[in-house]
Amino acid sequence: MNAPNKSGWKPEMTLAEDGMHSGPATTTGNRALMLEEPLLFEIGRADVTGVDLPAVDANAPTRLGGLARSEAIGLVGLTEPETVRHYTRLSRQNYGIDLGFFPLGSCTMKHNPRLNEKVARLPGFADIHPLAPQNSVQGALEVVAQLGEWLCKLTGMPGVAMSPKAGAHGELCGILAIRAAHEARGDAREVVLVPESAHGTNPATAAFANYRVEDIPATPEGRVDVAALKARLGPDVAAVMITNPNTCGLFEKDFREIADAVHAAGGYVYCDGANFNAIVGKVRPGDLGVDAMHINLHKTFSTPHGGGGPGSGPVVFSEALAPFAPLPFVRQDAEGTFYLVEEENREERGPSFGRMTAFHGQMGMFTRALTYMLSHGADGLKQVAEDAVLNANYILRSMEDILHAPFAASGPCMHEALFGDKDFTGGLSTLDVAKGLIDEGYHPMTVYFPLVVHGAMLVEPTETESKAAIDQFITAFRAVVERALAGDEELKQAPYYAPRRRLDETQAARKPVLSWQKPDD
Ligand SMILES: *Cc1c(COP(=O)(O)O)cnc(C)c1O
Repeated sequence: MNAPNKSGWKPEMTLAEDGMHSGPATTTGNRALMLEEPLLFEIGRADVTGVDLPAVDANAPTRLGGLARSEAIGLVGLTEPETVRHYTRLSRQNYGIDLGFFPLGSCTMKHNPRLNEKVARLPGFADIHPLAPQNSVQGALEVVAQLGEWLCKLTGMPGVAMSPKAGAHGELCGILAIRAAHEARGDAREVVLVPESAHGTNPATAAFANYRVEDIPATPEGRVDVAALKARLGPDVAAVMITNPNTCGLFEKDFREIADAVHAAGGYVYCDGANFNAIVGKVRPGDLGVDAMHINLHKTFSTPHGGGGPGSGPVVFSEALAPFAPLPFVRQDAEGTFYLVEEENREERGPSFGRMTAFHGQMGMFTRALTYMLSHGADGLKQVAEDAVLNANYILRSMEDILHAPFAASGPCMHEALFGDKDFTGGLSTLDVAKGLIDEGYHPMTVYFPLVVHGAMLVEPTETESKAAIDQFITAFRAVVERALAGDEELKQAPYYAPRRRLDETQAARKPVLSWQKPDD
């Protein structure tokens, strides 16, 4: 049962009215054990708390100097069990990788092995403080150092910064190192080139670091237009930012040629490594001429993500940029003791551009990622890439007969399959397919990204899904796509079974209601 409902809040849908359910309406709005849940403000009472406090003597002297609150604070109260239930019910309306397939392209929503969790929870890792004396956290420092070493080996790059806290943060770290390297030479360059298929964080990062961003077009095959890029290179170009494999799910075959041209023009090559899952153990970005690349530990190395955190985005650096990497970094002395270099030391490394964060990075993500690497081994990581690519191609080839696949003729895809809504009829679009998939029990794929494909649907199964799970998804995906091809009007109202039906996403983005307004009584 729900708590008493004072504000007139009603469940949005009663079961019989929508014409889609056969059962009778319930008085609570609950559907069996799927429980409706009002807002805290709608169920809370001002006079309730979860703890018993002694009564306050109103005449007792205070030391607040006249600053005592004169009116109620306006927070609502719940008992402890009500509080626990409120948040648990909300959590059950959420969807995560532990509930089902999560084909969100470019996000690499892979299974997080439970072994990772076990190791991350060891008290020696979980209960330490960033300011603990370094001799008391030698094991943790060794984890940071070892993980950094794995990242350097896997990418073929000599330097690494462990502190960036997500992919976008890593991009900023890389671009700031590039800016520092140019400035150290007294070379004031102003432009960063970004392909038009890039993730939005790439141009945002360059702009945030005070560069002017210019687009590089894509070829009809979905890759960077090398001729256009070369034509634009010049003494004002500080760097290019290229994602490889790119966001169309394709390997940039001419990356080495691009990198050589950029270097010849005095620029640096930033590689967005968010899609490293497709090539880990197979390709070393250092061999392709990359100067800086972030690695999303929360994507490739399976640490859990979504819902805003936590992430971790270490950056690997070439010989040219390594001296400018941010502080701090871990070193080991001749006796084998690990220590943090916290201050700039030009003799040891060079003119670091400064710091990205107060401390050292995401310890919990580091332990999970290293556990993942050690349990897979080098051969296992290579198989990760192979299986991720195989799974994506299986989906591409299982759908291309009914769904527009703009780059299917360019050959096999990498870790994700890209489709468009070109052939849908009756005004139906990608959004309707995404909503239809929710009714089928699937988190939708990434939609409307990359921008170079009309109504893009970017599907990334990752290597952790079984063939049976992928076959089930393909069956559901095909069924929904067939409805879109046939112009099925009902699909425009989907989802029918989600707790809140179809939301007005434009309104939610433009005019979000971020605080609760007391309804007029
Ligand atoms: C995820 C992603 C990013 C950003 O990474 P965050 O960890 O979300 O900041 C950048 N580029 C690409 C291609 C991505 O997929």
